[in-house]
Amino acid sequence: MRDLLRIKDLTVAIGDKVIVRKVNLSVGRGEMHVIMGPNAAGKSTLLAAIMGLPRTRILKGSIIFEGVEITNKPCYERAKMGIALAHQIPPAVKGVRFSEVAKALIERCGCSDHTLMAKMLRVDKLLERDLFVGFSGGERKRAELYLTMIQGPKLALLDEPDSGVDLESLSIIANVIEYLIRKKNASIILVTHSGAILEKLSRISKTHIMINGEIVYSGYPDDIIPIVTKFGYRKSVEILLGDSR
Ligand code: ADP
Ligand code: MG
Repeated sequence: MRDLLRIKDLTVAIGDKVIVRKVNLSVGRGEMHVIMGPNAAGKSTLLAAIMGLPRTRILKGSIIFEGVEITNKPCYERAKMGIALAHQIPPAVKGVRFSEVAKALIERCGCSDHTLMAKMLRVDKLLERDLFVGFSGGERKRAELYLTMIQGPKLALLDEPDSGVDLESLSIIANVIEYLIRKKNASIILVTHSGAILEKLSRISKTHIMINGEIVYSGYPDDIIPIVTKFGYRKSVEILLGDSR
């Protein structure tokens, strides 16, 4: 089966600084790929480049989604094609209600199970507030995931859905990610720095380690996570590459 997303030899800059280097990544339908790595490795920049956020500048390589080259397509076209990004730190928007943004997305994307999603993510009580204004860590991540889900994405890019959230929110978020894959057959690229959410997810297809803008190791989560937890990223990559030689 043709991959949903294919990234070939992608090099991305922000301003004059090269951040992502020579990344190759293929994601099939219904697959979940995890990208781990230290701070400033370029994980968020890679997701931003896949989404086509204007701050990213693609210097080399290509991004192909459902067989269509999207490397130079603007962000809104990629969104229409079914790519959605849940930001690492979504901005607080004073004067705009969460419910207004949700309503616009529900109408545009024809989402029919938004009530169920709001319930699953426990955002009902937040909907009448200004978007992300004064939200706690867990509330912010649940609200951001809700806005992502109601777009009915074919590919959801989730940037650290586990950072700064309490244990209860972590379980809720993990359940919803599994639901996206199981019930919606969505594909997911999930970035995590801490790996906190990984033990709650059972459907990870592959885990990639990114350091200095490059994917330096790809493998199976059960082989990678215990080593990373013990030795940190850089040392783990040496060990893992040593093992595979
Ligand atoms: P990660 O998500 O892995 O922590 P990022 O992709 O956010 O890493 O950032 C990678 C590098 O790019 C960092 O050194 C960061 O400072 C730099 N960077 C990110 N965004 C910008 C920007 N808008 N302007 C300048 N440098 C940036
Ligand atoms: Mg980041």
